[in-house]
Amino acid sequence: MLDDLSLDSCFDVAGLLAPALIYTAILALHLLLPARVVDGYVRDPDTGEPLRYRLNGLGVLFVAVLGWVVLGWIGWLPFDWLYHHRWSGLIGAFGLGVGFTLWIVLTAPPAEHAEPSAKSLAADLFLGRRENPQFLGGRVDAKMLLYLVGAVMLELNILSFAAHHYMVYPGDPSPGVALHLALLSFFVCDYLWFERVHLYTYDLFAERVGFKLGWGCLCFYPYFYGIGLWALADRGNPHVSPVLSVVAALVFFAGWALARGANLQKFTYKTDPERVFLGVLAPHVLTDGARSLLCGGFWGVARHVNYLGEILMATGLALALGWLGSPWPWLYPLYYVALLVPRERDDDRRCAAKYGELWTRYCERVPYRIIPGVY
Ligand code: NDP
Repeated sequence: MLDDLSLDSCFDVAGLLAPALIYTAILALHLLLPARVVDGYVRDPDTGEPLRYRLNGLGVLFVAVLGWVVLGWIGWLPFDWLYHHRWSGLIGAFGLGVGFTLWIVLTAPPAEHAEPSAKSLAADLFLGRRENPQFLGGRVDAKMLLYLVGAVMLELNILSFAAHHYMVYPGDPSPGVALHLALLSFFVCDYLWFERVHLYTYDLFAERVGFKLGWGCLCFYPYFYGIGLWALADRGNPHVSPVLSVVAALVFFAGWALARGANLQKFTYKTDPERVFLGVLAPHVLTDGARSLLCGGFWGVARHVNYLGEILMATGLALALGWLGSPWPWLYPLYYVALLVPRERDDDRRCAAKYGELWTRYCERVPYRIIPGVY
């Protein structure tokens, strides 16, 4: 099984430095390309005004991918260079994630944690101290840059891993590789297209910047999310039934509809409370007079049906590769279960503290946490 990961591949200086060079290029593109400037959901604690964000993720992705194509086309960098240097790239990205964590945490005063027992240097290093650091006069928001870097590097990695497959099996490539690449690229583009909606999510308003977010975006996101292709790009065509590909795509897009639908419905409500979502879902809410919670549409079937959507998307991606007996692609949906089940519990505690009696009424009205009718 470990052969799939090609643990013997080279640990070379170019591969080690590649993430640093690519991340620097992404930062430069983010700074140089035109961006839309929007208000976020998080408010500046000093002024009470919404934080402002410069968003240009899709443009940065487009130019980065174009750069990959051009360098490959003119023969300066083989299309599968990142595949051959993936182990050293991973180690380089790991080091960057650790270095970034030490810098962003240790240059800030200790954080105030809700639970005093959580007060320790280790907790600060893991969870972070700063809530929403912005640099260069607000031109760069650390969280949004981290997510952008992770997304673009993930896309470059999976393009390179898939390119390797096509270079090794030009006569009989696996359609599953193309499908997996298409779906995962859709996932990346969808995130960047809806970058503004992300400003209204848990990571932005509830998390600090430490190892979890910093190392998570610089190392884990761009390398682990591509684990299916990492492990299986070197294998030939499994010749599975096209029905499996159709099922994989259906599962993926069913998940996308749930996750994107729920997130957009909430975003629409928070930005324009009277608006009918998609022209059909009028905002049904529970209210205590001062605050309100959506209890219809996606938010009426389960309290986090968006998490179910993410898990289904990951399952569709694992199915798409067609190697049902290999454990590697399944690590991705398993990771989502491990991430999102505790996260739902955390968010439930946060909402119970924030909304009090209103949250209790919402939980009575919508009893399921993630899977309607089951959990
Ligand atoms: P949610 O989008 O579910 O946000 C939870 C927050 O929404 C709550 O804290 C509360 O905040 C508000 N809220 C909860 N219930 C209601 C309601 N009924 N009506 C109105 N507002 C409500 O979770 P996340 O921010 O964790 O996730 C956002 C998206 O990101 C999800 O789709 C998730 O799956 C995805 N995600 C993706 C990951 C990935 O790696 N691909 C990783 C993690 C998440 P408030 O105080 O504002 O009311």
